[in-house]
Amino acid sequence: MSNTDINVDIDEVNKFATLASRWWDKNSEFKPLHDINPLRLNYIKEKCGGSLQGKKILDVGCGGGILAESLALEGAIITGIDMAEAGLEVAKLHLLESGLEVDYQKIPVEAFAKDNAQAFDIVTCLEMLEHVPDPSSIIKACSELVKTDGQLFFSTLNRNAKSYLFAIIGAEYVLNLLPKGTHDWDKFIRPSEMEAWARHSGLTLKNMIGMTYNPFTKTYKLEDDVSVNYLCHYQK
Ligand code: SAH
Repeated sequence: MSNTDINVDIDEVNKFATLASRWWDKNSEFKPLHDINPLRLNYIKEKCGGSLQGKKILDVGCGGGILAESLALEGAIITGIDMAEAGLEVAKLHLLESGLEVDYQKIPVEAFAKDNAQAFDIVTCLEMLEHVPDPSSIIKACSELVKTDGQLFFSTLNRNAKSYLFAIIGAEYVLNLLPKGTHDWDKFIRPSEMEAWARHSGLTLKNMIGMTYNPFTKTYKLEDDVSVNYLCHYQK
């Protein structure tokens, strides 16, 4: 199979597979994801009316399960899909430690959508769209998977001079927050591109918010500035 047969960049997925054993090490390459998780969890919860209890949620590109487990802890019924086998193995093992339940599967989201149309109340796809060859196809599949009126959450990195400076030079070369080569600036997504793909897939933008990092306090926060990291809430 060639690299382009399905909407998966094998090199990108392998980057995550290589690091898989460290998914739950809060001081590892995955520290930023652990650090931002409470912020994004609260955002999702708040936009879904304050409770996730009993909600059927699909987490696309779930990795080692950082978001998936936190959603399960809120009482939601979670399915997590990813294309990196090693990450999913770590995610499954971690359930033995946490005692939580998540249905983890290795399957492309487009294939999963064929058998699970409108099966979910909420679909999340965070920090993944900038790693795939065709993000619009992922967004379309996510839209098919969510019920009418359901909620969707996407997060990614904006593409402009500032995001090159902050997300590539700053995060990978100066502050060493992420391994060098984690991100490819060309694959970052402008909010206008995200919006066009989402609208084309029948989604309505409810809210868009930036996620910023303060290197002095080493903390993240949600604020209006979407120039680097941003998070979007859509409704079908
Ligand atoms: N969503 C998680 C992990 C983000 S890291 C979080 O925010 O905590 C990006 C994840 O996307 C990795 O686990 C990687 O394996 C996965 N990924 C990359 N390309 C993918 C694809 N085409 N299909 C599914 N998962 C993919």
